[in-house]
Amino acid sequence: MDLYLGLVHHPIRNKRGEVVTTSVTNLDIHDIARSCRTFGVKNYFIVTPLAIQQELVEKILTHWKEDQALAYNPDRHSALEIACHVASIEAAEDRIADIHGVRPRRVVTGANFKSGTVDVGEVVRACELDKRPCFLLFGTGWGLHTSVTERADFSLDPILGKAEDDYNHLSVRSAVAIYLDRFSRF
Ligand code: SAM
Repeated sequence: MDLYLGLVHHPIRNKRGEVVTTSVTNLDIHDIARSCRTFGVKNYFIVTPLAIQQELVEKILTHWKEDQALAYNPDRHSALEIACHVASIEAAEDRIADIHGVRPRRVVTGANFKSGTVDVGEVVRACELDKRPCFLLFGTGWGLHTSVTERADFSLDPILGKAEDDYNHLSVRSAVAIYLDRFSRF
């Protein structure tokens, strides 16, 4: 199955459930790129509509392509090669559709999903059945806005731990690594 990943900075929920745009972070760019590269994700899309944030992402990605940085840390360069910025989720879906000739299934994640969720196995089976790529989306801020989750083909079961009070609010980087490991088992 062809797996793509998106880290969404818009549309995102703030604490009050309103739509906001969050800032990109250096840590998310690097750490998620490494997880994606390790687990065979085709492309890691950093979704932001803000030109100034796109420039920042471009600067970071370009820096690690330069000779000196490449020679110093070739593993980092290799991971970042699959990362790119894109203005919207739909623009990323268009790009994936151009590559495969079919639109990807949109799969969303969230710590608080309560019902109507499926496990990773169900997503993999569905994508393999009709040979559609999978576009796995992660939130920032207080998570993906409902305008994104409402239009998903699948919502994944939240990752649950062992906390007695059911606390399960992982960093997005940890959540990515856990889900990618789960996908790699199919
Ligand atoms: N500021 C935070 C950070 O530094 O990572 C970002 C929080 S953001 C809401 C975390 C994202 O990771 C969620 O939108 C979701 O995509 C994913 N996530 C975190 N915990 C999760 C869980 N228990 N189950 C499923 N997804 C989870």
